[in-house]
Amino acid sequence: MARTRILATLGPATSTDAQVRALVGAGADAVRINCSHGDDEQHRSLLAAVERVANEVDRHVTTVADLQGPKHRLGALESDPRTLALGEKLELVEGPGPSPSPEVAVNVPGILRALRPGSTVLVGDAAVELRIISVEASRAIAEAPRGGTIASHHGIYFPGTPLPETSLAPKDLHDLEVMVREGVDWIALSFVTTAQDLRRARDRIHDLHPDQLPRLLAKIERAEAIRHQVPIVEAADGIMVARGDLGIELPLQDLPVVQKELIFAARRAAKPCVVATQMLLSMVHASRPTRAEVSDAANAVLDGADCLMLSEETAIGEHPVEAVRYLREIAEATEPSLWTGNEFPLLGREGDLSGNELHGDEGAVAEAAVRLAARIGARAIVVPTHSGQTARLVARLRPKPPLLVLTSQPSTFGLTGLRWGARTRSVPARLALDALRERARTAVIEEFHLSRGDKVVLTAGYPVEGRPTNLLNVVEV
Ligand code: PEP
Repeated sequence: MARTRILATLGPATSTDAQVRALVGAGADAVRINCSHGDDEQHRSLLAAVERVANEVDRHVTTVADLQGPKHRLGALESDPRTLALGEKLELVEGPGPSPSPEVAVNVPGILRALRPGSTVLVGDAAVELRIISVEASRAIAEAPRGGTIASHHGIYFPGTPLPETSLAPKDLHDLEVMVREGVDWIALSFVTTAQDLRRARDRIHDLHPDQLPRLLAKIERAEAIRHQVPIVEAADGIMVARGDLGIELPLQDLPVVQKELIFAARRAAKPCVVATQMLLSMVHASRPTRAEVSDAANAVLDGADCLMLSEETAIGEHPVEAVRYLREIAEATEPSLWTGNEFPLLGREGDLSGNELHGDEGAVAEAAVRLAARIGARAIVVPTHSGQTARLVARLRPKPPLLVLTSQPSTFGLTGLRWGARTRSVPARLALDALRERARTAVIEEFHLSRGDKVVLTAGYPVEGRPTNLLNVVEV
């Protein structure tokens, strides 16, 4: 059983019940609706298919609605496409365009106030670079040192420039409302720059549906978000290393180390981290991944990622089910090396986990549960939990025995679907300790096929509603 979660993006290649069933059967724990594509009706129909399949296979399939965010674009060009000569000068003006040459419309309100002489602007897939020479009230003069071709509505990036707006555009507010009403488990916020973006989204959700509070996944895809990563991780429930846009905002060669740092920042806060984009991209057409893709996915597992995401591979690819199966097999083959000689994997940095609030009494009980499990050769760690807090504390230590979460809370199912290592089953609320131990016995037999005499460690905040992690028990099957 892979501990690393797999998040598969749904799309035209995976929109029927049979296709969703096949993805889940191959190992997808969670699915993503990408709100950049499709309309409300298509999104609802995908979610309905997921719900039918989840009921059929009697498992929660975690759902993530990924909001498009304020993707910045050029306006319309008068001559389209337009080829820029080496060193050609142009004038950037705000608005939807078209503007007469040498003007180029940039559809980003307030951008002229943010640009400075020397700022870099990238267009398309970073194929064209513009350097700002001077900024006036109504235009910025730029030059294209290497020339290139630009076209109407190409994506435009301002690496290193603090941008004026929030990460929730009007389309996002609409999608947010629809998706929250549909009861998705997570909302992924694109182009987050500061923790304030997350607080605004949370307030908005609270105003709309105080009884439906999906978790917030902060997509880290702006250079500015890297600078604000500590407060962003604190304000979010989890993060995504969105390598597609991040690879344009940052020099490409910086991505691997930034990925490691972000994964660690999330694990330190016991919040899940999803690594996304181009995981097995060649499988959009090819039936096998490349060696480099396999190595990249395995290294994300070794970095300690909670979850790996597939995008085009499953949304529009020719081999969506095989892509999920490969990712699961890569995780299964790689994970055992996390524990070679290590009670706590990634031990070299373990000391760095101290010094935050999770290192208090609760963290100590969770750590004791992992040590106890290793000492007695426990075959599983069972975590009854209300909010998911004990599961957070145990999972971030990456224990070797499989982790089983027992909860009566539907929202905790959704949370654990992106978290490393946790299988989740439902239990009635407020069980007495003996009943909880009995439930743990039957659940590990069903989930992990344990036998009579096997030992499992049970840890929880007891009684299970709202108590800090305070209980440690050995249960014999
Ligand atoms: C990314 O940029 O890596 C990403 C995941 O975002 P999207 O797929 O929404 O472009």
